[in-house]
Amino acid sequence: MDPNRLRNLLHPDLLRARLEQEGRPRTTLSFYRYVRMGEVEDLRHALYAEWEALGVLGRVYLATEGINAQVSLPTENLDRFRSALDARPEFSDVPWKIAVEDDGKSFLKLIIKVKKKIVADGLADDAFDVTNVGTHLDAATFNRKMEAGALVIDMRNNYECAIGYFEGAYLPKADTFRGAIEEVEAMLKEEVRERRGEGVKERRGEDVKERGGKEVAVVKEKKEVKEVRDVPEILLYCTGGIRCEKASAYLKHHGYTNVGQLHGGIIDYARQVKAQGLKSKYLGQNFVFDERLAERITEDVVGTCMQCGAACDRITNCHEATCNMLLVQCEACAAKYADCCSPSCREIHHLPIEAQRAWRKGRSTRSTKTKAINDPEVLRQRIREEEELLALNGTLHPELTYITPTAAHHD
Ligand SMILES: [Zn+2]
Ligand SMILES: [Zn+2]
Repeated sequence: MDPNRLRNLLHPDLLRARLEQEGRPRTTLSFYRYVRMGEVEDLRHALYAEWEALGVLGRVYLATEGINAQVSLPTENLDRFRSALDARPEFSDVPWKIAVEDDGKSFLKLIIKVKKKIVADGLADDAFDVTNVGTHLDAATFNRKMEAGALVIDMRNNYECAIGYFEGAYLPKADTFRGAIEEVEAMLKEEVRERRGEGVKERRGEDVKERGGKEVAVVKEKKEVKEVRDVPEILLYCTGGIRCEKASAYLKHHGYTNVGQLHGGIIDYARQVKAQGLKSKYLGQNFVFDERLAERITEDVVGTCMQCGAACDRITNCHEATCNMLLVQCEACAAKYADCCSPSCREIHHLPIEAQRAWRKGRSTRSTKTKAINDPEVLRQRIREEEELLALNGTLHPELTYITPTAAHHD
């Protein structure tokens, strides 16, 4: 038995127990900044020592392009944490956003990772000016512009939109940032054509073909971007605002000049709405990247159970550790499928723990929470097929009859 595997399995429980016993109120907050930084490795070690002493837990990404942090810390240490940040020129006055709904159990340990980028966006940054961002808008202004007919675009991944979004927003189907922005660009081009009353024109494509080479097409593309006018004001939003920095710069580079972005994202929108008594135009829950998975913004239930289709916005992970798939699942389905995504995972999950361990051996247990069901219809089809097979054979994993508890002990 691999001792690391055991420790990995037990560790979160121990950490959770420790956190339960701490008994100090904690505050969950997030901040980011695009800022040029030098010795990132050294900085990482210094920050780790400094923040650990303040009881900071959470997930922090450092890169030469900046910092992206989601942390929780004892509320009594907030001032000291602020001073520690301000004492460093690169983080001085960095605005942070405090999570609204918060039991302080968002994070179990402090992880500071040095990365190439603070957000994995898959974009070639050197191709455009990342500092030429859209106008930062507060909640009240965002609401007003929405009412005036601006085009609202969700810059998050599909699984994040599944449990909440701004009323009438365009929700990309992609499950990556890059995919989402490409989808948005295509949608905007369509929007421009429609507004010009042109319909879909093939002429441009033919022009390019006639003249042959790829280079001509690229040059034409660049010319085209300067002409994007007939598009309404674009409003972007994401969880904490950071993805909109890149997305707005990208769209501006592609000729869309009238771009606004929700400053501080949904997290800070919720705070402002509450503080100022505004009407929340964001409905449902906000997906967050910590243990909670979501924080409720309004009582609206905008999602559907991915297994049965009932109105539901309960987001969860499949409890079969090697699957861990994110899905929206109602309580009834959670009971029916033993907190799993499918009959197949349920069968594994119901095995004796020794057999489960044997099953896990050599398989990676997905620790990320970002693998999600993209198409509920495909999942439902799979469930139907698996239930049929199960009724026929009594098992979906005939191979597991070879893994007995006794065999696992000799491991
Ligand atoms: Zn259901
Ligand atoms: Zn599963």
